[in-house]
Amino acid sequence: MKYIIFFISLSLIYSCREGAEDTVDKEKIDENVIIHEEYQGESPEVPEATEFYEPAVPRVLPFASNGVPSDAIVLFDGTSLEAWISSGDSTAADWHLNKNGTMTVKDQAGDIETRQHFGSIQLHLEWKSPEEIRREGQNRANSGVFLSGLYEVQVLDNNDNDTYVNGQVGSVYKQHIPLAMASVPSGDWNTYDIIYHAPEFNEKGQKIKSGTITVIHNGVLVQDHVEIKGTTEYIGWPKNPAHGKGPLKLQDHRDDSRVSYRNIWVREL
Ligand code: MG
Repeated sequence: MKYIIFFISLSLIYSCREGAEDTVDKEKIDENVIIHEEYQGESPEVPEATEFYEPAVPRVLPFASNGVPSDAIVLFDGTSLEAWISSGDSTAADWHLNKNGTMTVKDQAGDIETRQHFGSIQLHLEWKSPEEIRREGQNRANSGVFLSGLYEVQVLDNNDNDTYVNGQVGSVYKQHIPLAMASVPSGDWNTYDIIYHAPEFNEKGQKIKSGTITVIHNGVLVQDHVEIKGTTEYIGWPKNPAHGKGPLKLQDHRDDSRVSYRNIWVREL
């Protein structure tokens, strides 16, 4: 009897799944996504019904110059801080420009941000915490990448240095715990590849669509299209001020972080 019930349940589940698949296929046809208009309402019996040649896909050379894609906007290539200003007073960025093509946080100089403002972007940057260890927890090589100047992806030296997990390296600060801790040893260069979709607001300033963040840390997915709850606050709840395009901001945590950056570029989405 037990086996009969089991097989009946199994066939019921299977028939439900088949029904669900039928529904999905019809929806796709209705959306005119996978089938040409002239074949609408019919079963696509020829391969051409589901093959598209428009819109043309733009050509991007992936390693056009110094490994940067041909359509990217270079924000830091090691030669100048011209693309950056001080967040505090909009004067020239006052961080250390090093002779080896990198820049380093200048303690107490404050955050810096790009002159140019962006909406949704693909961002690549590389960062390094100092080999020489000082301090503990949130005060060990703390910096951060602020998307639209408001939403922080944490930069921190977490090697043998635990802290609250929603504020550790790769977190969307105090909102999303990273899926993995993928840092290289202190003193080596990390890569962050970030896909950021900016939130959308209506004319009344109300949020109508949340922003999302995906982060790949040294080739490892650590944030998978997570929803931004609002500003990434140290104390208190996230806030949701309406905004349009904003700068990319890098944090001076004001505790002698000595974090360095190099090779920063974005592609607008
Ligand atoms: Mg930080």
